[in-house]
Amino acid sequence: MSGTVRVEREGAIAVLAIDNPPVNASSIEVRRALLQAVRDVGDDPAIEAAVIIGADKTFVAGSDIREFGKPLEDPQLPTVIAAIQACAKPFVAALHGAALGGGFELSLGCDARVASADAVVGFPEVTLGMIPGAGGTQYAPRLAGIVAAIEMICSGRRLRADEALRRGLIDAVIDGDLRDGAVAFARGLKGKRRLGLERVPPGDSEATEKAASAALRAGKNRPQVAAAIEAVKSAATLPFDEALARERAVFQRLRMGSEAAALRHLFFAERQAGKVAGLEDVTPRRVSCAGVVGAGTMGAGIAMCFADAGIQVTLIDRDDESVGRGLERIRGTYERMAASGRIKADDVQQRVRRVRTATDLQSLAGCDLAVEAAFEDMDVKIALFRELDRILPRDAVLASNTSYLNLDQMAAATQRPEQVVGLHFFNPANVMKLLEVVRGGETSAQTLATALDVGRRLRKIAVVARVGEGFIGNRIYAAYRRQCEFMLEDGAYPEEVDAALEGFGFAMGPFAVADMSGLDIAWQMRKRLAATRDPRERYVAIADRLCEQGRLGRKTGAGWYRYEPARRVPDPAVHALIREASAEKGIQRRTLGTDEICARALMTMVNETALLLEEGIAARPSDVDLVLVNGYGFPNYEGGPLFWAKRQDRARLLAEQERLAASAGFGFRKGDVAGLLDQLAREG
Ligand code: NAD
Repeated sequence: MSGTVRVEREGAIAVLAIDNPPVNASSIEVRRALLQAVRDVGDDPAIEAAVIIGADKTFVAGSDIREFGKPLEDPQLPTVIAAIQACAKPFVAALHGAALGGGFELSLGCDARVASADAVVGFPEVTLGMIPGAGGTQYAPRLAGIVAAIEMICSGRRLRADEALRRGLIDAVIDGDLRDGAVAFARGLKGKRRLGLERVPPGDSEATEKAASAALRAGKNRPQVAAAIEAVKSAATLPFDEALARERAVFQRLRMGSEAAALRHLFFAERQAGKVAGLEDVTPRRVSCAGVVGAGTMGAGIAMCFADAGIQVTLIDRDDESVGRGLERIRGTYERMAASGRIKADDVQQRVRRVRTATDLQSLAGCDLAVEAAFEDMDVKIALFRELDRILPRDAVLASNTSYLNLDQMAAATQRPEQVVGLHFFNPANVMKLLEVVRGGETSAQTLATALDVGRRLRKIAVVARVGEGFIGNRIYAAYRRQCEFMLEDGAYPEEVDAALEGFGFAMGPFAVADMSGLDIAWQMRKRLAATRDPRERYVAIADRLCEQGRLGRKTGAGWYRYEPARRVPDPAVHALIREASAEKGIQRRTLGTDEICARALMTMVNETALLLEEGIAARPSDVDLVLVNGYGFPNYEGGPLFWAKRQDRARLLAEQERLAASAGFGFRKGDVAGLLDQLAREG
């Protein structure tokens, strides 16, 4: 039976096996069953000690996240832990798989912890907008010290068993059978109880403050990060029970808050995105060797993604110099990562060795997958797809990293359109989590399943899109950027728009982003689309003027801003250009407030999403949220544009859409936002 705890006996040791597939989440049923089992251990005179272990693949990998948005049912986890500690017999937690969040806290509440070498432990609560709520902030500093506790709790980082042992968070790593090892360990305790519940020494306050400010910086000063630091520090200043009660109160408040709700929404959105109807019984093709064509910014980053995942990759460019530059970029990035401690020194060579370079496409003859990342030019891509089709094995998958172009045209150049798919990575590809998987008109279920499987292996958040100019993310972003340019003509300056949206929580405002990525890419695209653009459409030519003046962004020292040398500075010359543009169109400039700027920018995203859903390019609203948060700097604590929209006043949003339509004028396409809001409300 699932959701229960099986009690087995090994002589005088009781083994409590938690059985709640698939991840042994500590649900209400598990807590109830565990509490009963703990009491039974206490009542049975034949039992001297107990082991708590996870049935099947893992220990308790976390709490049941669905419960966090509602009042928690009793018994809650602290009650179970209190019962373990009140029991007259020692408890050993035996960890394998993952012991995270409440699962790890359950083990910390036991008298000792042993783990198999494959186990990972950690506190993901902060990444879900909360702090640990069942003693994590008190046990971790007692066992590992305040600095280590701040670092691990604030980052949500998972520690492998060897590191957990080194830090004192677990007591032994078991080589052989975990259950047997844990039972032997429990026997060896001979009634010894837990140590380390004394108050922790305050330690080195300078080191604590350094760790705290690093954690706050990395955690973008979010309230749960500050609360976690305070709770950990209280382990040195407050009596245990009082600190525990405070931790619980903060946990309860944060878990019901809006930030935690947004982060939970994204957590579930991620799981949902991987589920594509019709792929349930499809076996992906195994990819053990990949090719990447084009060793530029993206190609080098994509090759690193494969190398990081342990997949052999061949990186191709047109000449030795270009591939050499690509490989140097890869090596340089790994060396910087090693220097800052993100990977081990040994990993640099190991990963670089997984990247072979070549200048001849023929070198991809044995590959299972090729990702094209050459210039954004249809003729170049079509020529490459023809060649790849000729060279790669008949069952290999051909992918393009195109940002905007029509994948179906590339597929049509091959004899295997069903094996062509888009793999749209984001820059820097080895860092950004998002991967848009583009399903062409002919892409087969197996090819799509293969692309999703590769995404998983590369540890990306894969979101499926259909073919359409800019797919999901770039299509929405283009509409958003256009709207922001309208605002310039209407009366705002770039720094005002950027400040408003950065104030909302975007990592960077749209004009700072444009300067960073270079204004020339969008300029090329506008030129490409110029012939088909209806002259009656509202077209803002300010960016074209900037490009004509050689102001291509940061790389030329000037764009929407001036750069001194890396600091962005508002530029009166740009202001003059903007005023001229308004005057040319006879627009009476006026001041745009922060609220108006945010409402127009965000509502544009919502409107474009409604269109994308109607066109079938995006499958569900939560996919769009994932794309914007993981690829475009939308603040995760707002949950994405649709989650944001769901929490706004409906009438206000619809009125805003009317205003957008009026300000854009001819050609504005109104999405069915009312229908979309209904759908969001139904989904709850
Ligand atoms: P880039 O100019 O930095 O690199 C392109 C590389 O491809 C160059 O090194 C070039 O020599 C090589 N190349 C061109 N034609 C080739 C051929 N026939 N055979 C072998 N190599 C060839 O460009 P990039 O920024 O890396 O972009 C590559 C692709 O990725 C484009 O389709 C682009 O739209 C897309 N993309 C770019 C970004 C970004 O932010 N830069 C993000 C997502 C997707």
